[in-house]
Order: sequence, then structure tokens, then C-alpha cells
Amino acid sequence: MLKAMEEINVKLGVKTILSRIEEACNRRKPELQGVSPQLVAVSKTKPVSMIIEAYEAGQRHFGENYVGELVEKASNAEILEKCKEIRWHFIGNLQTNKVNKVLSIPNLYLIETVDDEKLASKINSGWSKYCGEKNKLKVMIQVNTSGEDAKNGTNPDNVVTLSKFVIEKCENLCFDGLMTIGQFGYDLSQGPNPDFLLLSKCKDDVCTNLGLEWKSVGLSMGMSDDFEHAIELGSTNVRVGSSIFGHRVKKV
Ligand SMILES: *Cc1c(COP(=O)(O)O)cnc(C)c1O
Repeated sequence: MLKAMEEINVKLGVKTILSRIEEACNRRKPELQGVSPQLVAVSKTKPVSMIIEAYEAGQRHFGENYVGELVEKASNAEILEKCKEIRWHFIGNLQTNKVNKVLSIPNLYLIETVDDEKLASKINSGWSKYCGEKNKLKVMIQVNTSGEDAKNGTNPDNVVTLSKFVIEKCENLCFDGLMTIGQFGYDLSQGPNPDFLLLSKCKDDVCTNLGLEWKSVGLSMGMSDDFEHAIELGSTNVRVGSSIFGHRVKKV
């Protein structure tokens, strides 16, 4: 087990994914050019040493989906010392009673998984105490594009309403875009991934209804198996774990 982890070359992994991202960008239609997608290295279940290795390869954005694990890694002394510009993305299911824990970590950059008004309000009020010294907190709205009961995320029909709520009622938050996980194992030979198409349509709706500039709204979609396809469909934020850090032992 340990040996298997040591064999993973994290630095090479980051470089390889970055060049695949660049190639996918070049394949986008002209109207989707103009934003370069950000790579979020999803480090869940992986050790601090691997995060530092990726950081040393130039990677700055990291994603975690468990509150306890995020708190532990973000406050780790070695990370604080060696990864001063790290930017943490929270990408998991966030219960309201854990919001303050997430907000208290050093270098929190973006919460990608806001899916109702109650959670948005809780994050907004919690962030008020940091707002003097830090900027508004970036948040994304998670959309349940596949309609599966087991998935978190707001209904696509509710995206405009919830985005409007975040923009108009949450003065400490900065609306950064939309996020989806989508169904697993979609077969691309069936055509473009319907989850990505739907998320992109939600973005168009938000922009039209709320008068936002198209380029100002991000789309977080695409993981190890489909990030290139997601970029071709307009993703601005890909969340890649196992292709950088190796397979996870725990299924999460
Ligand atoms: C684990 C996870 C990822 C990364 O998945 P890989 O298939 O390992 O790239 C991306 N997004 C979310 C929300 C995750 O939980």
C-alpha cells in the first residue's frame, strides 16, 4: 500500500494534467475561448506530503470534500509553512452545523457546494466576522443536473432564484458560478454529457435573467475521467483527483 503511493509521481501528474487541459482548451469552439480553466487538485484521502509535492510543482488550488479532513490539512504546520499561497476549495456536502469550521480554516478560497438558501445564509453570516480583513468569500451553487436522489445540489429550475438570493441577500459572499458532479460512468459515445450541457444552460439562464456578464460566471465540471470533455463544453474549473494522486483506497 505505502509502496504503491510512493510510486505515484505527483509532479509529473500535475504537469500531465495541465498539458491535457491546454490541449482541450485549444479544441473549444471560438465562443468558449477566452477563459482558461483552473485546475483544482482533489487531495481527499491523500497525505500532506503529496499536497506539498503538487504545490512544489506549481499547483495552488486544492479541493477537499470532508470538513474534518479539510480542517486538519489546512491547519497542518508543514502546509502552513511550505504552501503559503495554497487556495482551498470545499467540494463536499456541507451541513449547516459545520459551516463555521470550514470558514475558520486558513486560506479558504471557494465553497463550491452551496445548494439552498439556508446554507447560503449561514455561510454569509458566518463570514461577516472575517470580512473586515479578508475579501468576500467566493461561493458556487451546486446543481443536481442528473436528478439522482442521492446527489446533492439544487434543482436546475431553482438555480436562477438561488443565484439571485446569493447576489442580492448575501453581502459577504461573491457569486462565482455553478458546479455539478453529474452521473458517474457516462458513455461519451452517446454524445455530449447531458449534465454538462444542462449546467451550461443554467449558466445562460442565470446570465440572461440576472444581467450578468457571461465570462464572469464560472462552471465547475469535469473530474479525472471527463475533464477534457467538460472543458470542451465550457468548464472553467476542473476537479481532478485520482489522475494526479493515484487511486483512492477508500471509495468516496
Ligand atoms: C473526489 C471528487 C472529485 C475527483 O474525482 P477523481 O475522479 O478522482 O478525479 C471531484 N469532485 C468531487 C466533488 C469529488 O468528491
